[in-house]
Amino acid sequence: MRALVVANWKMNPATMRQARALFEATRRAGEKAKHVSLVVAPPAVFLRELKSRYAGRKITFAIQHARAEALGAYTGDISLVQAADAGASYAIIGHAERRAAGETNDDTRAKVTEALRLGLTPILCVGESKRDPGGAHFSLMREQLRTGCWDVQSFELKKLVIVYEPLWSIGQDAAMSPRDMHEMAIFIRKSLVEMKNEQAMNVKILYGGSVDETNAGGMLRQGDVHGLLVGRASEDAGKIASLLHAVEAA
Ligand code: PEP
Repeated sequence: MRALVVANWKMNPATMRQARALFEATRRAGEKAKHVSLVVAPPAVFLRELKSRYAGRKITFAIQHARAEALGAYTGDISLVQAADAGASYAIIGHAERRAAGETNDDTRAKVTEALRLGLTPILCVGESKRDPGGAHFSLMREQLRTGCWDVQSFELKKLVIVYEPLWSIGQDAAMSPRDMHEMAIFIRKSLVEMKNEQAMNVKILYGGSVDETNAGGMLRQGDVHGLLVGRASEDAGKIASLLHAVEAA
């Protein structure tokens, strides 16, 4: 299986020069990982230059955060239209850090719709902040999926990427267990099939949260996922190389 790895650099590194160096290290490691599809999500200010200097086909680019509105009085923000114009092919939508900053399920719905309209692949992140024995996180997940994918037509389902990334697994020492991810992948698929139709079986499901070279292989083999969304391990030249090596070997 060809794994999809999304490298979410978040607000790193500090300078364009460092971004070029990190991209070059990622590119070199990526070329060796023949069975990996690699998406790099740099800070928006670095995206156009990285994309325009890159002549290869291995790596595609994602915007980490952008608005659904095409234009307007939104000081400091950028739009999905602008992200597409800068060279993004994917859009991360509903990341936990953006939800914490106020992004709502309705916002994710508008962004998924606009991304698809523009030909961008939406990477919709879902996940609960905590779990309780009563299983309330399943209802929350269902609502995030239901609203976020509300306008997605059946024929568009194959373009959609869903990332399960619970807040309690981000920025930790260890990832969640592949067994728990497997359970969640079944739930996500089942929910989408109920909401849409059988074509939802084709939706790509990724896991995100404290992924590194030690846990990536197990998650890909046993977690029922098509790939990984990676934060910290993508922000360091050595770590991304080790991670891609582990993914290729999985
Ligand atoms: C993230 O926030 O998208 C993420 C996966 O972070 P980390 O890998 O650092 O937990």
